[in-house]
Amino acid sequence: MNSPLQQTLLNAIRTIPDYPRPGVQFRDITTLLGDARAFRRTVDEMVQPFAGSKVDKIAGIEARGFILGGAIAHQTSSGFVPIRKKGKLPHETVRVAYSLEYGIDEMEMHKDAVKPGERVILVDDLIATGGTAEAAAKLLNQLGAEIVAACFVIDLPDLGGRRKLEALGVPVHTLLSFE
Ligand code: AMP
Repeated sequence: MNSPLQQTLLNAIRTIPDYPRPGVQFRDITTLLGDARAFRRTVDEMVQPFAGSKVDKIAGIEARGFILGGAIAHQTSSGFVPIRKKGKLPHETVRVAYSLEYGIDEMEMHKDAVKPGERVILVDDLIATGGTAEAAAKLLNQLGAEIVAACFVIDLPDLGGRRKLEALGVPVHTLLSFE
């Protein structure tokens, strides 16, 4: 049973069938971001578990994690650091490979983006298989960050991503699920 807030957010998310491939139900949050009230409520809800706790950095995963992560960084008075696909960051980086449905890709962070011991929240719009967020968590671990939690608007629980992060000791927060 969804709460009234979850129903508001679900109504603000657009589903595109068969995008980018046949069989995928793409959960498009651009409609939620474009709705002032839904966007604000999403950010308020995402920061709520961290009220009163010290957070040094928000690490946002390219690209929708940048939009949510920037707003969350402002709200929590934290810095923002980007986790990007390879070849996009201009300074020295750490890099990790991760599996996609077809082949592998790599993602990067600047080596000096996070200092050892800094408390970091990982942010993206959606967790599916968890491969992307797991790779991001490995980068943060390489830099010696303390990962406070990973936060997503949407969970696709059938794909098991949450368990992958929890196996790394990372608490996972999501606002709503699509079965
Ligand atoms: P995964 O690595 O399988 O957890 O995939 C998560 C990443 O892929 C996130 O950055 C999402 O934005 C994107 N993604 C995966 N599946 C979907 C979907 N059904 N709708 C929208 N975005 C998705």
